[in-house]
Amino acid sequence: MKKISQQSAKKNSKNFLIAGHSIKPATRTRINIDMGSIFDFTPVNLPIEVLNGAKDGPTIFVCSTIHGDEIIGIEIVRRLLRIIDEKQLCGTLIAIPVVNVFGFNDRSRYLPDRRDLNRCFPGLKNGSLASQLAYKFMQEIVLKSDYGIDIHTGAYNRTNLPQIRTDISNQENMRLAQAFNAPAIVNSNLRDGSLREATSQAKIPLILYEAGEALRFDEYAVQIGIDGIMNVVAEIGMIKRNHKISSSQIFIARSSSWIRASQSGICLIKAKLGDIVKKGQILAEISNPFGDNKIIIRSTQPGMIIGCCVLPLVNKGDALFHIGFEKNRDINHNLGDDFTKGVDRINNKNL
Ligand SMILES: [Zn+2]
Repeated sequence: MKKISQQSAKKNSKNFLIAGHSIKPATRTRINIDMGSIFDFTPVNLPIEVLNGAKDGPTIFVCSTIHGDEIIGIEIVRRLLRIIDEKQLCGTLIAIPVVNVFGFNDRSRYLPDRRDLNRCFPGLKNGSLASQLAYKFMQEIVLKSDYGIDIHTGAYNRTNLPQIRTDISNQENMRLAQAFNAPAIVNSNLRDGSLREATSQAKIPLILYEAGEALRFDEYAVQIGIDGIMNVVAEIGMIKRNHKISSSQIFIARSSSWIRASQSGICLIKAKLGDIVKKGQILAEISNPFGDNKIIIRSTQPGMIIGCCVLPLVNKGDALFHIGFEKNRDINHNLGDDFTKGVDRINNKNL
């Protein structure tokens, strides 16, 4: 794996070969990867932009919208492409604003065959539609990369605190996660068929950025995402950054679980994303349309609220709060004013 510091990088003399295109050093190219067609034979393409840097360095891909309704990463990728200059870049950036082009055009998490793309990696050349898309994405992009960043959001009507999800026992992933410097890092087990599992098997370090809500933009989540990606590309020597980042404010969760509604009704939320909560702390109340038959929802363990329902109408069993349980820190530790202000900005937007 190439790790070259920005200062010592040599001039890049190689064209970058991808999807039948050859991209010269210090140039960028937009490519449409053929993904077949829809019923009326209208072609479907997977659009990507490739920046082949002026100097030698690693290759990183940044992708969004593997789930077709999780769109925050599209805005992150668009702005990133305006910030990064291929003439100053060491290595190659492959940017993919929309991976699940089929679901995206239908505002749907899934593909038209109702499969979840993030359960179909590494895919099969002649498999289902989702499997073929996963296969092409792996062959053309992932396996040509040394690193990856995959951008997701919460589900519809659920919002996430900006956070990195990764295996915190993996040193290289943790290095990228800490460099990203989102408010939280959440340890996550690999899921069968996920891009994370496929990259783990291919020994390509990948972190997953989760922030905000499906089908919504969120300026704070976008800003944290752009800063985080710039921090990561600086960490692996692709760009020069003058200021050092501090990781002291990152909340590291070793595990997490959801607190669910214990009855159906109207839900009033009493806590915010990013709140540090104690065991037994009141998080919400659920009552009938007259305000009677009230029940109180409490935190079952101390931790941080890393995800939250934003729809006040809930059914028994609905997921209300995602709580992260901390690693190696007193749970009542004060995370500081900057952290609190940042999280308040998210809550003003989302709740
Ligand atoms: Zn997702």
